[in-house]
Amino acid sequence: MINNRNTGPTPLPPAVLDAMAQQPLSHRSNVFREAFAAVTAQLARLVNAPDPGLLLSCSGTGGLEASIASTVSAESRVLVLSAGSYGDLLVRIASRFTPTLDIMHFNPGGTFDLAALQKQLMQASYDVVLLTHSESSTGVYHPIALVTATIRAHSDALVLVDVVSSLGAAPIDMVEWGADVLVGATQKALMAPAGMAVVYLSARAQRCVEQHPVCRDYMHLRPWLEASRQHGVPYTPAVNVFQGLAAAAGLIFAEGLPARYQRHQDASARCRAFFADHDRVCCVAAPQHASHSITALHLSDVLSASSIKNRLEYEHHIVVSTGLGPLAERVIRIGHMGHFTLEEIDEALQAIAQVIEKESCGYGD
Ligand SMILES: *Cc1c(COP(=O)(O)O)cnc(C)c1O
Repeated sequence: MINNRNTGPTPLPPAVLDAMAQQPLSHRSNVFREAFAAVTAQLARLVNAPDPGLLLSCSGTGGLEASIASTVSAESRVLVLSAGSYGDLLVRIASRFTPTLDIMHFNPGGTFDLAALQKQLMQASYDVVLLTHSESSTGVYHPIALVTATIRAHSDALVLVDVVSSLGAAPIDMVEWGADVLVGATQKALMAPAGMAVVYLSARAQRCVEQHPVCRDYMHLRPWLEASRQHGVPYTPAVNVFQGLAAAAGLIFAEGLPARYQRHQDASARCRAFFADHDRVCCVAAPQHASHSITALHLSDVLSASSIKNRLEYEHHIVVSTGLGPLAERVIRIGHMGHFTLEEIDEALQAIAQVIEKESCGYGD
């Protein structure tokens, strides 16, 4: 058995595997329509969204692209807040749709500087602001409620938040946040198979999508929004992924949200406590910004992330993720999202410590 502690796709509960292994529903049947209405209502409850979310058949990046394609046009002025690789992903996608893009970069491992943001918002007027809640490259949760309050105080911009790696792992309240678009995906803390993106729209965002020119047939939200109002989808969805997601949504509410969020927080706390006094690794995120989904460990210069990852996989049957972008060899990332026990986290931590010990001493190959 592999202890999969990577950053997604995450392990699936047996009931989810069973649901995926059933014959595909016809997406034009009443049974699908009823299941779709139930699942999207559950997913809306998860984040206190005003309306059921849209389910697109694509990974999280597809959900981000479709959302940006549907709210940003060549005339839009866009601001992106980035403190890591997933913030940079928003920059890359947005740059395909508008030339008028301002980017605020913040230190990886830290969060957004609200005073700097306030200053920026007073200098320019934006149509859309893009940011990430859970920055999976550094293991940081950005304080979205504070950020959106700052944006709202100075701007009418639509606020789009990437919640791909926090949806299902930590409390998200779309109304309290005052966010307009949230984009999640099935394969992380929702403990569902890879293949669907979840997009939530505020009333304002829905109006924007309705008025925005439909510049593409598939990766634009308008057809998905119109179909979702009839509890359906415009094109053939990833039906077996949906069936797995339906089972996962049931399990999420059966566990109960407070217990679920506590389990994620406990996993994060264990990872941080375990390496608190370690002389070869330290957590990338400051404690007050620690993600409950992913713990990123910064390695001392003598260590190689890919070498540690390979040894964990071959010698311990534990899979972790290396860093991303410039941090690729300097960081390893432990995923604790969705379907896991704290014992599995402890087992992974022990193995990581052993491997780091071996690698530091130059033992073995
Ligand atoms: C995983 C992830 C994504 C999207 O990844 P996909 O592979 O396209 O599903 C986007 N943002 C964050 C923060 C992520 O962790």
